[in-house]
Amino acid sequence: MHNGLLAIDTHVDIPWPEGPSPFEDGPRCVDLPKLKQGGIAAVCFVAYVPQGHRDAAGHLAAAGRTRAMLHAIAGMAPPDGSGGVLARTADEIEAAYAAGKPGIVPAIENGYGIGRDLTLLEEFAGLGARYITLTHNGHNEIGDAAIPLRNLGDDDTQYGGLSDFGQSVVDRMNELGVMVDISHAAKTTMMQAVKRSKAPVLASHSCMRALCDHKRNLDDEQLELIAATGGLVQVTMVSNFLRPRARAADVTVADIADHIDYGVQRMGIDHVGIGTDFDGGGGVKGFMHIGQARNLTAELTRRGYGREELAKIWGGNVLRLLRQAENVAAASQKAPLRQPGAMA
Ligand SMILES: [Zn+2]
Repeated sequence: MHNGLLAIDTHVDIPWPEGPSPFEDGPRCVDLPKLKQGGIAAVCFVAYVPQGHRDAAGHLAAAGRTRAMLHAIAGMAPPDGSGGVLARTADEIEAAYAAGKPGIVPAIENGYGIGRDLTLLEEFAGLGARYITLTHNGHNEIGDAAIPLRNLGDDDTQYGGLSDFGQSVVDRMNELGVMVDISHAAKTTMMQAVKRSKAPVLASHSCMRALCDHKRNLDDEQLELIAATGGLVQVTMVSNFLRPRARAADVTVADIADHIDYGVQRMGIDHVGIGTDFDGGGGVKGFMHIGQARNLTAELTRRGYGREELAKIWGGNVLRLLRQAENVAAASQKAPLRQPGAMA
């Protein structure tokens, strides 16, 4: 069953500063040999920037790290064809799959990397970034985070959701075809971003709050809004998000399947997928690295999911979302751009 699926994992970290090679079967949860072993067609590798001070020096450093990490991600697809294939669109992911090459999809975790500068957003989109989480832990210039960072002086809320700048970021992401990722954002930020965005939003790695009351998870009201607007929640493998902390040590693929079941029941089969957060905290018994992806498919099959449903959960839904983002961008470029003088 699993072998016929175009499977996409929407959230994997890379070691930084650069660590073990992605080309060899080594200590990473995700490397190119393990992708083959796990029957995974494409992975969103993220340039993750921890939240720091929101001053000129902090923003300069965050932009520099984002840029360097995007280049490192592109380096997993060397021009000589010895690694993966850079896959920046839904068509390119399908082409990589058809060619039997791992698709490398760049993304960014934490809009802190663009500071207050929309031209950086354009630069990073040009480097292939296909989604950006609006925040990580800690508020940034874009909006409030689900988890404020007291050591950076965060109050519970700074903007009551998305900032004015954050609204222009969402607009520009729509125009550039970059998916708006609401994982890590505060509920207020998330609800406002969903309403602002012309393309459906992505939660690249989040779980269901009804099953595990963690601030990083999405409650039923959030799920309903995502489903109503055509968005997508990618269930993640972080133990603390799957089960309350005290029982997190016993988490297995059955817990992941419980969250997928719940999401499918609340939102429908078109709105649920998988984003492991491997090499960033993800991993449960039976699914400790991407080479073990078949164990999750087996559990879902036991629960009655058929080929068509598995195809949606494992990749079809996120391909649809990518295409919707691409269509919104294409449509927006037919209209006059907002900033005067930008059109050649
Ligand atoms: Zn994360």
